[in-house]
Amino acid sequence: MSTTGTLYILSAPSGAGKTSLVKALLDELDFVRVSVSHTTRAMRPGETDGINYHFTAQDDFTAMIKRGDFLEHAEVFGNFYGTSQHWVQHTLEQGQDLILEIDWQGAQQVRRLMPAARSVFILPPSREALRQRLDTRGQDSEEVIQGRMQQAAAEISHYVEYDYLIINDDFRTALDELKAIFTCNRLTQRAQQQRHAGLLTRLLEG
Ligand code: 5GP
Repeated sequence: MSTTGTLYILSAPSGAGKTSLVKALLDELDFVRVSVSHTTRAMRPGETDGINYHFTAQDDFTAMIKRGDFLEHAEVFGNFYGTSQHWVQHTLEQGQDLILEIDWQGAQQVRRLMPAARSVFILPPSREALRQRLDTRGQDSEEVIQGRMQQAAAEISHYVEYDYLIINDDFRTALDELKAIFTCNRLTQRAQQQRHAGLLTRLLEG
């Protein structure tokens, strides 16, 4: 008997290193997938449609909202972002764990709809480090960076709504902590009972 995967919400202020952590996590844990969101924002250099995001025209995004295609959607920094309902259901039903890299607004919507979802907030080690990471990424204008720094404190204030907090100071430590959360949740009695129903039956045979 297969078990349903766990849904994970990952949020962080822009520049906290969330995307790099997720990429490394996917390389190391084969039972984890990440959802590719739809967005109306312009593609950044180095991004690929269908891999980083499904880059979507505003009209198409609005039509998807009307059709009820999104599990959640929100406006972030003047652009729209949304998670495909179908993809989430499909992946979880296959027993895979699924990560949604979404903001606090989306996180609130998902928690209401799927209370079993676990949520993780990733923090930078300092405001200076956050600013430095936004600078070195070199993909956004100064105006955008300033805007994101101003948003950072507002986003961070939502950390209280999350189950787990990770401080991304040393990358390897943060990655190990993230892996520990995923591994631990797969070892709960409920999850193991479903995954190893055959073994448990055989072990209980008189
Ligand atoms: P960026 O444009 O820098 O990739 O992402 C900006 C913000 O949008 C980040 O906080 C990111 O977590 C959030 N975001 C990305 N995809 C989604 C989504 O599908 N839903 C929601 N609510 N937020 C998203």
